[in-house]
Amino acid sequence: MAMRQFKAESKKLLDLMINSIYTNREIFLRELISNASDACDKLYFKSLTDTSIGVKKEDLSIHISPDKDTRTLTVSDNGIGMTKEELEKNLGTIARSGSMDFKAENKNENIDIIGQFGVGFYSAFMVASKVTVISRAQGSDEAWKWESKGVEGYTLTEAEKDAPGTEIIMVLKEDTDGENYSQYLEEYTLVDLIKKYSDYIRYPITMYRQKSRQKPKPEDAGEDYKPEYETYTELETINSMVPIWKRNKKDVEEKDYNEFYKSRFNDYSDPLRVITSRTEGTATYTALLFIPGRTPYDYYTKEYEKGLALYASGVLIMDKCADLLPDYFSFVKGVVDSEDLSLNISRETLQKDNQLKLMHNSLEKKIKNELHAMLVNDREKYETFWKSFGRQIKFGIYGDYGMHKDLLADLLMFWSAKEQKYVTLDEYIEKMPEDQKCIYFAAGDENDRLAKLPNAQLVLSKGYDLLLCPEDVDEFCLQMMHDYKEKEFKNINSGDLGLETEEEKEAAKAAAEENKDLFEDIKTALKGKIKEVKANPTLKDHPMSLSSEGGLSMEMEKVLRKMPN
Ligand code: ADP
Ligand code: MG
Repeated sequence: MAMRQFKAESKKLLDLMINSIYTNREIFLRELISNASDACDKLYFKSLTDTSIGVKKEDLSIHISPDKDTRTLTVSDNGIGMTKEELEKNLGTIARSGSMDFKAENKNENIDIIGQFGVGFYSAFMVASKVTVISRAQGSDEAWKWESKGVEGYTLTEAEKDAPGTEIIMVLKEDTDGENYSQYLEEYTLVDLIKKYSDYIRYPITMYRQKSRQKPKPEDAGEDYKPEYETYTELETINSMVPIWKRNKKDVEEKDYNEFYKSRFNDYSDPLRVITSRTEGTATYTALLFIPGRTPYDYYTKEYEKGLALYASGVLIMDKCADLLPDYFSFVKGVVDSEDLSLNISRETLQKDNQLKLMHNSLEKKIKNELHAMLVNDREKYETFWKSFGRQIKFGIYGDYGMHKDLLADLLMFWSAKEQKYVTLDEYIEKMPEDQKCIYFAAGDENDRLAKLPNAQLVLSKGYDLLLCPEDVDEFCLQMMHDYKEKEFKNINSGDLGLETEEEKEAAKAAAEENKDLFEDIKTALKGKIKEVKANPTLKDHPMSLSSEGGLSMEMEKVLRKMPN
């Protein structure tokens, strides 16, 4: 029986995980239960289209059994199980390199990387010195045993198992001064952990519990009979099984929502905002949505997948249904549960489903309103949101030929050069002096450099505010909008701002006349690089400034030139 090696990266990560100090070792149970629940979901979902399976939802469950004699804790399920190949594939490789890099970059942060990277299974090694997985796949009559003591590798051998499903047997580590692993054999600790992390799991999580009861009174009991007690064990379902989104909002505490968010969506920080929604009518659904508290590490990359988990009457039918969310709200996480979807709907027919489109539209409105409410009522939080996801909203305005600009415009914020804080477009307009016609902005560089541009100084000297736009998408976004409430956006670096006084205009004319030859020489010297040399009467401390004419500013041209064709 040869020892198989983990893939090289897996080895590094596993080592990191086992040897790092986790404040939160207890989450291993949550991870294993989630996997068991996924396995039940998969089997149930399969049984809907494959009638030969004949599994009923009530048949599926997860069982936890501690055994002090052997110092083992076992988590078993009668879900879909794994074949030999699947055991090898799923448990032999840990995380992709992207995750490794991320962890390496964030060495000093005490983060819970397990949840983050879906390497949940390996968290068992935080508490176990040996992990044995015995699994039999649905539809197969052979079972396999995967066994590992950690980094050295694992073995895979044939095994016996009566029914399909998976059994994870952990030999708990010995207690040390600082670590108490034996607690994971105690009934009450396990009950606590299940209630804390896995209460919403929709399959029963059962465990035998010690109970005590009064023995029946013997018939010949005399006057002085004292009741006698005996202990017995009883199989009990520990979790309440009602999905958290189906519970009454007033019965759910914020920490429950936060816990659910973190475990379900693999984040290690609390969400910024929780959105609950129950609608009836054209689209009947219950939604529980979250705005993450920070930008996912892969958010602005191609790897990021948007989508909400979609349930049909409590059964998961798709983990990331992209059609429920517009791209500009792709940061939203959550679940949508609808009674209107038929259970055995296939992914293909789902895409054509009109119900989905109705839900999309209703969710879009809901999210927009919640974000706006956050802007109005909780500015600090909104700014945190804006720093993480504002860029995406700006892309939303620019994308699809500006189709969504009206929906998104009042979510925009920019840095005000005058007030040195974020302002919305409404706030900008409100403070405009009467003689100000346009909304001025400067784009394409860092804020403090933008504020020092000659034209920026000019605008500010008039008492007008100026929006500083350091991101490449900013200018595209504002150009696409063209105006806000009939106030046109004006890039201070494109063309003539028309802010000179009559006197200054006169002076410019004179200067142009006087320096005609010089200007011609400059133009010849910079042939092909510039179009024209002009006298600028409004320059104060600067010898010269560059500007462009027409729709495209120099900054935009720069961005466009960088883009692949
Ligand atoms: P994730 O759950 O994020 O995919 P894990 O490390 O927790 O990552 O699990 C890895 C994979 O192993 C799962 O995706 C699944 O395919 C398989 N797996 C783990 N536990 C079970 C189980 N109890 N039954 C069936 N498959 C499982
Ligand atoms: Mg998992």
